[in-house]
Amino acid sequence: VLAARGIVKRFGALTVLHGIDLSLTSGEVVAIIGPSGSGKSTFIRCMNMLEVPDAGEISFRGRRVVPRFRAAGETLGLGELRRHVGMVFQHFNLFPHMSVLENVIEGPVTVQRKPRAEAVDIAMDYIAKVGLAEKRDARPDQLSGGQKQRVAIARALAMQPDALLLDEITSALDPELVGEVLGVVRNLAEQGMTMVLVTHEISFAADVSDRVVFMEAGRIAEEGSPDRILHNPDNERLKTFLARFH
Ligand code: ATP
Ligand code: MG
Repeated sequence: VLAARGIVKRFGALTVLHGIDLSLTSGEVVAIIGPSGSGKSTFIRCMNMLEVPDAGEISFRGRRVVPRFRAAGETLGLGELRRHVGMVFQHFNLFPHMSVLENVIEGPVTVQRKPRAEAVDIAMDYIAKVGLAEKRDARPDQLSGGQKQRVAIARALAMQPDALLLDEITSALDPELVGEVLGVVRNLAEQGMTMVLVTHEISFAADVSDRVVFMEAGRIAEEGSPDRILHNPDNERLKTFLARFH
């Protein structure tokens, strides 16, 4: 469904991505691991064009994404890409002055122009799925970090995306809150959601993903099944990287 080909990204004189290829089939879960600064966030942001690559292309269902809001025919604009590909960040980015429900219906109402009643129905469905039905009227500052992140996931799901990009969504959480968020991600994986997850939770990555990609200095240094990557890696840097988690 979603593919990146030859993605190169530079910030000034610094080349951060040196030609990344990654394509996801429907229902596939790919985990990206790698050291800090290896380009994981930059790459996942390129996948929905929050960063525009300097070379290479992103395509969604066979249509090449162009960095304009609207496009037609063979190409796909950013508006449509973002409707199909949701993203959740490390820092939840919720609207602080809005309730849980208002946060979750915002996209469907303002972007998708759904009638409010329909948006509320959809939103409540996802709010319940992440276990927060009783918090629908709470504001973000009345929620724990794990609850806020679950609202952020519900907000992304309310757009009914075909794929989700998750960038270290548990790394700002206290350890005891990580499990509840990972549980939501695990359920999504089991329901067949196509996902790319950047994570430092190595054992979780192994558990939910179909494929693990190890990035190092802006390149994919190794990729394969979770079992092979985590238990039988070839790459020396990957071995060193994994040793830190044992
Ligand atoms: P972490 O595990 O710490 O989140 P990462 O693998 O996600 O790291 P990136 O955030 O993609 O790494 O950063 C890759 C490199 O690009 C780093 O050297 C970083 O300093 C640089 N970089 C990222 N964003 C920018 C930017 N907007 N301007 C300049 N340099 C940037
Ligand atoms: Mg990052």
